[in-house]
Amino acid sequence: MDLTADQPQILLLAGTVEARVLAKKILERFPTVRLTASFAGAVKDLPDLGVPTRIGGFGGIEGLCQYLQTEKVSLIIDATHPFAAQMSRNAFHAAEREDVAILRLERPAWQQAPNDLWHPVASMDDAADAIPDGAHAFLAAGRKEIATFYRRGDIIGTARMIEPPPAPLPDHWSLVLSRPPQSAEEEVELFQEKGITHVVTKNSGGTRAYAKIEAARQMQLPVIIVDRPELPSTDTAATVNDVLDWTDKFLNT
Ligand code: NAP
Repeated sequence: MDLTADQPQILLLAGTVEARVLAKKILERFPTVRLTASFAGAVKDLPDLGVPTRIGGFGGIEGLCQYLQTEKVSLIIDATHPFAAQMSRNAFHAAEREDVAILRLERPAWQQAPNDLWHPVASMDDAADAIPDGAHAFLAAGRKEIATFYRRGDIIGTARMIEPPPAPLPDHWSLVLSRPPQSAEEEVELFQEKGITHVVTKNSGGTRAYAKIEAARQMQLPVIIVDRPELPSTDTAATVNDVLDWTDKFLNT
């Protein structure tokens, strides 16, 4: 099929498993759209979404406005991580300024079960304050976030991340370099082996990183859980299928 510049251009802000699924399903369901995926580029080992892909920041709201104009984008699908708030805010404001439609995929947050020992906090900084003296905290965090916890010289930490942090960890921290395991059993094993007393995590939602929540429940460990950042109010969809249905309506009205 010959795709011309008149075809609707969709910008998919990626970085989540949902974005990966969406790229494939959008092409299957709407074969005539031009779809470009965008990654922040924080992780080097990026998946191939099978669509044209750009990597790296746009240069704030201004840069994104420029991109929307140049590429004649008609719809932004924001399928970034729920904590990629800066990107989501920039996308909202740029879309408003350039009169481009925008839909945000918001996977539901994890909910506290009756026997979960959750301690909700508003930020990573508050999470660092909330860890009690002498605890051994397990931290599932981005490479840039871990430094927030170094000021707590009175705790021991184990951090898990996909790629190494920019600087070596202090002596009282150890590093587990891996993606999250899929089973609670593996998490329980890790927590027991390390002697973890507290779990620190963002409320990312979804199934991919949920094993640590289940493991903490099984072991009755307190979870210091960072609430999601507030985002501007716009159209949202909770699932990939809802995004596809919304896009269908958008393209056909
Ligand atoms: P952020 O604070 O929202 O984004 C910072 C900047 O990175 C944005 O302003 C933008 O730069 C660029 N950026 C982010 N996502 C982009 C995308 N999809 N395409 C192009 N540029 C993008 O997000 P973050 O620093 O990446 O992460 C914040 C939190 O989200 C962390 O907790 C991290 O662990 C979590 N997280 C993020 C992602 C992700 O893909 N972004 C994935 C998993 C987890 P410009 O202003 O220059 O455009």
